[in-house]
Amino acid sequence: MPRTFNFCAGPAALPEEVLLEAKNELLDWKGLGVSVMEVSHRGKEFTETINLAETSLRRLLEIPESYSVLFLQGGASLQFSAVPLNLPIGTTADYVHTGHWSAKAINEAQRFCDVNVVAELDSEDLLSIPMEETWKYSENPAYLHLTSNETISGVEFFWTPSASLPLVADMSSTLLSRPINVTKYGVIYAGAQKNIGPAGLTILIVSKDLLGHAGNNCPTMLNWTVAAQNSSMQNTPPTFAIYMAGLVFSWLENIGGLESVESINRRKASTLYEFIDASGFYSNNVASESRSLMNIPFHLSDSSLDEKFLQQSSSLGLLNLKGHRAVGGMRASIYNAVPEEAVTTLISFMSDFEMRYG
Ligand SMILES: *Cc1c(COP(=O)(O)O)cnc(C)c1O
Repeated sequence: MPRTFNFCAGPAALPEEVLLEAKNELLDWKGLGVSVMEVSHRGKEFTETINLAETSLRRLLEIPESYSVLFLQGGASLQFSAVPLNLPIGTTADYVHTGHWSAKAINEAQRFCDVNVVAELDSEDLLSIPMEETWKYSENPAYLHLTSNETISGVEFFWTPSASLPLVADMSSTLLSRPINVTKYGVIYAGAQKNIGPAGLTILIVSKDLLGHAGNNCPTMLNWTVAAQNSSMQNTPPTFAIYMAGLVFSWLENIGGLESVESINRRKASTLYEFIDASGFYSNNVASESRSLMNIPFHLSDSSLDEKFLQQSSSLGLLNLKGHRAVGGMRASIYNAVPEEAVTTLISFMSDFEMRYG
């Protein structure tokens, strides 16, 4: 079967160039006659690979030396626990509740500290992130946690809160989709399987002045300081996933870095939103200023046509458009590796479908 257009929310599409490169060197990596999966993580060759991956990520995001970059496991979900276990908890931690993933982060943090929810997603009419003026910070919060992009409902932050306390962000589904100012954050973390590489790797970027605060009860494998001191080699890291992430970072640099990627991503998203808005048949319920560039949920005006829509789209090679079960309908995840042609092909299918059934 030829390569399809894959709109999966995660694990998500990988760049074809990256897959081909991995394929080409799978059996004979660096002239060693073995694959990257079959060598010591402490050997010279793999050390070079992880170092190059880190350097490339630092260039892409302009990460200053005052930040550590960690290659971890357990997904973004394990960081929901690691965050309160690693940061100096005074009394309370503040969380912004904007959807499914922030709710998970809140529930997990409540095992370890008092959580104050500063704001809830505004869902009266269209979904939107409430303005910071309305947020209710606690007395002396240890940090503020937010979910930069809610992957399920398609709600994204395009600004950073101004409060002067460590800002912790789950960027699983937005990291590397556009430039960000790392220095505005204390901690940034992301599961790899959206925009970075295969599942099994979690990237964490942490300001070095926030290290060294984990208590005795923090498991060694969740302790960021231990990971930083051991260059992410406190145990065997997910070597293949790190190798793949390194290839993805080089691919991003080769296509011009995050400014270029952002302009492609904006074009992809706005073409699809404009098409949906202009149609009377499809709808998206997110306010324009909070609309995700990466995950675009939409509904058909008649949900009894959902099955037909999914069958016909997938038979044309447009895969994984089914919305998350919590919101129903459809969702097109258009991460970096999803080409513009995928979006234009999707739109012609949607337009044709509307003509036939609308
Ligand atoms: C996918 C996702 C997660 C969960 O990631 P895992 O790596 O599976 O734990 C958490 N937060 C956001 C925003 C996500 O998109």
